[in-house]
Amino acid sequence: MRTLLRGGIVVSMDPVIGDLSRGDVLIEDGRIAAVAVTIDAAGAEVVDASGKIVLPGFVDTHRHTWQTAFRGIGADWTFAQYHAAMHGTLRPHYLPADVHLGNLLGRVEAVGSGVTTMVDWFHCADRPENADAAIEALREAPGHSIFCYGANSQDEITRVRAQLPGDDMMLGLRGPQRAPMDDVAADVALARELGLRVSVHAHTAADGGVDRRPIAGMYDRGLLDDRTTVVHANGISDDQVAMLAEAGCSVSISPDVELKMGFGWPETGRMLAAGIRPSLSIDDCPSAGGDMFSTMRTALAVQRGLDGGLTTRDLLEFATLDGARACGLDARTGSITVGKDADLVLLDAEDPSVFPVGDPVGTVVAAGHPGLVDSVFVAGEAVKRNGRLLGVDLPALRARVLASRDRIAAAAGVPVDGSWTPQLS
Ligand SMILES: [Zn+2]
Repeated sequence: MRTLLRGGIVVSMDPVIGDLSRGDVLIEDGRIAAVAVTIDAAGAEVVDASGKIVLPGFVDTHRHTWQTAFRGIGADWTFAQYHAAMHGTLRPHYLPADVHLGNLLGRVEAVGSGVTTMVDWFHCADRPENADAAIEALREAPGHSIFCYGANSQDEITRVRAQLPGDDMMLGLRGPQRAPMDDVAADVALARELGLRVSVHAHTAADGGVDRRPIAGMYDRGLLDDRTTVVHANGISDDQVAMLAEAGCSVSISPDVELKMGFGWPETGRMLAAGIRPSLSIDDCPSAGGDMFSTMRTALAVQRGLDGGLTTRDLLEFATLDGARACGLDARTGSITVGKDADLVLLDAEDPSVFPVGDPVGTVVAAGHPGLVDSVFVAGEAVKRNGRLLGVDLPALRARVLASRDRIAAAAGVPVDGSWTPQLS
């Protein structure tokens, strides 16, 4: 099975291939077989990529996908209000069917906007059936998904690991800001035993009473390594940034949520100064939009405002190759490189919002949006073509999600029209 993407503006993010103002990409058996100005591929199915920007698919390294049905409801909330609302009020009413629908809609949205690899950071873990439903939805939706399980027990982690081998699972640590360090240590030990990467939330601007040196606590006990992703990291001290760098950790920055919820400035610049290339993530859709374009733009604008020291190409690399590295998948995705999976996004370069395209990277980061996503390929398989998702019954999905959202909201006794201001206990 061979497919030739012909005549696109190719932004490979591969240091050897670079950018091609007009180039071809050959896909063979799901992998990238060649990238060149012109490729003669007799017998291949030809996709006309003229007038399109061809990019590697985006990698989102942290998204609480189960919350998608409550999109936008918390756009004005603080972190404490988000926590009280989503985890305190709504989460107890989630049944497995609701988890399934939230994950399905969220994953469909992500892939439709070009996110070919996504870490589903799952903490709606009140019962094992919720996790099963989440995983089922990730399998049903297009795109490569990694189930990052924030389970409440080690038995649960072990149970799910038996179903999800390889790179399809991570351990979502309860972390030093939510659990005693002995528990954190035991969870990291389990992750190492089961061969799981770990992801842990840590920032110092959270609600009161938290461990303000979460990284130092883990570092001192040898719990950080190059299989650890720290989410946010806002406000951590310089010595803790140095610990992250020394241990080889990656850092996932969620700029929109961090700013809107008052975590402080996204730490892109401080991480770069310490030698850490961050990845980017959406975090939660009740508070922020779900696409990587606005995420790149926010991160860029903040850091340019602070010190002017970031380029649009840095941002695109965070959203692709550095995200793949954070998942341990950079040999497989994150750039248009021969031998990698053909995880590709075609953007409409002729839309008035971006035309005429001179610098494609600058255009994508400064002016890109999900409405430009014409086509998406995951491991060579088309999952979106001509602006339409393939194999997804969106009207039916919308109806089911609405019913799910309304049932949960009614059970919790809260409105969904933006008038709900969560009360803090
Ligand atoms: Zn998070």
